Amino acid sequence: MAPYVGAAVAVLMLSLVGCAAQEPLPPTPIPRDEASIERVDMSYLPELKPPAACAGYVALTFDDGPTNLTPDLLAVLDHYEIPAAFFNTGTQERVHSRLVERTLAAGHQLGNHTMTHPDLLAVGLKDALADIDAATVTHRDLSHDAAPLFRPPFGNTSAEIRAAVESRGMLEVLWTVDSKDFEATTVEQVVEKSKGMTDGGILLMHDGKPLTIEALPLIVEHYYAQGLCFGRVVAADTELPTDRFDQTHRARAEKQEP
Ligand SMILES: [Zn+2]
Repeated sequence: MAPYVGAAVAVLMLSLVGCAAQEPLPPTPIPRDEASIERVDMSYLPELKPPAACAGYVALTFDDGPTNLTPDLLAVLDHYEIPAAFFNTGTQERVHSRLVERTLAAGHQLGNHTMTHPDLLAVGLKDALADIDAATVTHRDLSHDAAPLFRPPFGNTSAEIRAAVESRGMLEVLWTVDSKDFEATTVEQVVEKSKGMTDGGILLMHDGKPLTIEALPLIVEHYYAQGLCFGRVVAADTELPTDRFDQTHRARAEKQEP
């Protein structure tokens, strides 16, 4: 474990609430005071130089937060002045409500990742939409923000779900590369799996994973070396491929306007 994440991570790992991709979220954890968590030591973060001219844009996305580690994630993103999209569950937003405003205030995008993280295809359309709507209500109550993005848990979606979320004013966002950080045991694994995006690509990662935070500077360095910069998630004009079986989506990364 790199030193900049600090010894606090070892303690935090005992209380992490992220989800493995094929498992439902665990029960709601005991709320903690995020401000009391030791922050990332910025002096250990490598200085990285963005490309002089961006050959394209890719987007970082973090699912299943907010968590105890969201402040650390925000600190690293802030250090490199990189935008990201956070696909939060309503359940986690209730636990870490202050982090919702904080993430928005830092200029990041927020997305609906349902209330309780069910497999939307397994629960049926009615219950699926009820769970999505519950997250929307929670998010609006906490932030007065509309959370214009949506990501189905496990990427499990259907034409009906997609049409329903679009009718609710949200853009369904899958991913072009999966970092597989939920099953990684080393930083190197996260970095290797995170490679492969080209212009417009969207990377799936998870909030609450110490390895992901450690990997982030190396992932940024990799894409800078490709001439790519980091942008926000926007609607694409056409259907684009994802690495979620043969699914497509209409989302891509684009330059974040100031
Ligand atoms: Zn998830």
